Amino acid sequence: MRIQADNPSPMTLDGTNSYVLDSAGGSTALLIDPGPELAEHRSALLAAVGDRDLRGIILTHQHADHSEMLGSIEAWAPEVPVHAVLERFARHSEPVHDGQRISFGSAAEDVVEVIATPGHTADSISVLHGTTLYSGDTVLGRGTTVITHPEGSVGDYLNSLETLRSLVSVGRIETIEPAHGPRIENPAAVLDYYRTHRAERIEQVRQALAAGASGAEEVRDIVYRDVPDNVREAALQIVRAQLEYVSAD
Ligand SMILES: [Zn+2]
Repeated sequence: MRIQADNPSPMTLDGTNSYVLDSAGGSTALLIDPGPELAEHRSALLAAVGDRDLRGIILTHQHADHSEMLGSIEAWAPEVPVHAVLERFARHSEPVHDGQRISFGSAAEDVVEVIATPGHTADSISVLHGTTLYSGDTVLGRGTTVITHPEGSVGDYLNSLETLRSLVSVGRIETIEPAHGPRIENPAAVLDYYRTHRAERIEQVRQALAAGASGAEEVRDIVYRDVPDNVREAALQIVRAQLEYVSAD
C-alpha cells in the first residue's frame, strides 16, 4: 500500500511515498519510510496499518522527507524496531547492512532483503520484497536522482546502479516502487537510462573543465544551464559530487 505525503516540491516530485507491506496472513505489517512530520500523513499511515501488528520500520536513508516522522515515534510506535543504516535512526535494533533479511510475519514470503545502494547518500538502501524493489531515492519514478554532496558519491552511485541492473537481469527485480513518483514497470530500461544519463553528465563536466571552467558554479552554469531556477541549488550539489568523482579518477 502506497501512502503519499502532501509535501510536493521540485525535489520530492508529487511528495514522499511511504509504503505499508501487508504480511501474507494479514495480521502483521512493515512500514518503509515514515516520511515527513505531517499530521494527515501520520493518520494515513496508521489507518493503512489498521489493527495489524506493525513489526518494523525501515528507513531508506537519512533525508528529512523520509525520516522526519521518526522524531515523534514515541507517540505512535514506541516499541517498533527501526531498521536504518545510521546508528542515530536505528531503534530497538542494530544498524542494518547489505544482504540482511528482515522478517515481518510468519509466512515464508513475509521477509524483505536489504540491498545497500549508496550514492544518493552514503546510507541509502533499497528493500527487496518478492520481485518488487522499494528503491528510496536511488531510483525515482520520474527524472533522475540527485547525488547529494557531501553525503553522496558518484562512484558509489554508479556501482549501485550496476548492482540493481544485475538483479534485474537475473529476474530478481521486476518492479520498482520509488519514494517519489509513480511505479516503474520497466526497470531495465530505466536503469539503463540512468547509467547513460550519469555518464553523459560526467563527460559534460570533464568537457567544461577542459574548456577552462573553474569551480562548481561555473561548471553548473555550463552543464546545467537549462535547469529551472528552483533546482539550481540541487544542480550545484550534483556538480560538486561529480567534480569529486572526476578529480579522483
Ligand atoms: Zn533523499
